[in-house]
Amino acid sequence: MAKTKNFWVSLPMQMLYGLVLGVIVGTVVSTDFATTWLKPLGDLFIRLIRMVVVPLVIATLIAGSAGLGDASKIGAIALKTIIVFAVTTAIAVTIGLIVANFMDPGTGLTLSTEGLKATAKQAPPISQVLTEIVPINPIEAFGKGNMLQVIFFSIFFGFCISLMGGRAQILTDFFQVVGDVMIRMTNYVMLYAPIGVFGLIAFTVTKHGLAVLLPLGKLILTALVATIIFICVTYLPLVKIIGLKIGYYLRGAFEPWIIAFTTCSSAAALAVNLEASQKMGASKAIASFAIPLGNTINMNGTSIYMGVCAVFASQVYGMDLTFAQQAEVVLTGVLAAVGTAGVPGAGLIMTTLVFTQVGIPLEAVALIAGIDRILDMIRTSVNVLGDSLTALVVSKWEGMLGKEKLDADTQI
Ligand code: ASP
Repeated sequence: MAKTKNFWVSLPMQMLYGLVLGVIVGTVVSTDFATTWLKPLGDLFIRLIRMVVVPLVIATLIAGSAGLGDASKIGAIALKTIIVFAVTTAIAVTIGLIVANFMDPGTGLTLSTEGLKATAKQAPPISQVLTEIVPINPIEAFGKGNMLQVIFFSIFFGFCISLMGGRAQILTDFFQVVGDVMIRMTNYVMLYAPIGVFGLIAFTVTKHGLAVLLPLGKLILTALVATIIFICVTYLPLVKIIGLKIGYYLRGAFEPWIIAFTTCSSAAALAVNLEASQKMGASKAIASFAIPLGNTINMNGTSIYMGVCAVFASQVYGMDLTFAQQAEVVLTGVLAAVGTAGVPGAGLIMTTLVFTQVGIPLEAVALIAGIDRILDMIRTSVNVLGDSLTALVVSKWEGMLGKEKLDADTQI
């Protein structure tokens, strides 16, 4: 990132200006104008940051696992990462449920669901999900950006490089350099971020202005309160436990957060998140495993949202969720969040899994859809923060936190 001494013109501040300006411009221009002129600015940004993801993940994962060299070490990192994902996800959905039970986001609402339709999403059998982690054709997996398959192949490939000794050193060096080049490319792309953020936010504001938001304001408020409580009782204590200052962490996580918030896509924030977590001291090998994996399966924000939406929808339909049903929401909510892709609106479709499980009419999905962009901004922020925090926590757990901070020479 362009290093500048002046805080007020630093890149994160420029992104913040883009955000504020986007809100202002979004309230005065028409939706047509925003669609024609402002949305493309945001779309361009999303394309640019998504462009770097697959090569970056492949290169850093291969170099990372080749460098680790030891299957038991890779196994330990994988296990610890999954433990952190599982525990935080379960806490998230539970907090979502509890807060929603207190705040009653759906009682007293008389919303017409006439003409609204949604079809249930079928959950694939778990055996299929697991076998499909192995790609038949790795090149196809790269092409489609199927993260689980990319991760599986890259780690396996890197592990085999490590077994080949000196003869394959050239490959380790090669992927190491490719990773560094991709980070440099990310840094250049980020110079455009303030304009991209501006375009995205201005378009969102024109499309989802106050009039759309007000009727479901309580739902948004509930999601926001649950999210803040979750961050305060889970993330911030974790930051303290691993020995980082909260201010340091918040500053370090700012860039990936603002990308998540404005694009509503964890996938779009991946590259910057990878870099940010390494700057905060996460080990490269661990970050390059935990963050792409978390991008697909660790969705703490989406989990909170599942709990909140289930209570909201049941209240709109005058149903009282029993304790057993709430437990079912926790279970299916976690699974639905794990299956949610890191793209805008994916979580909304996955709520159908939870609703079907507890018998909530699916028209509720269409009801939420009107304001889902706002909920998506909140949940994607948490999804992305959760990934980098996991990388930091597992790095600490492995005794590698702060041992290999990102090289200054990869900066622009
Ligand atoms: N938009 C979210 C993300 O990219 C996924 C979701 O819709 O819940 O993380």
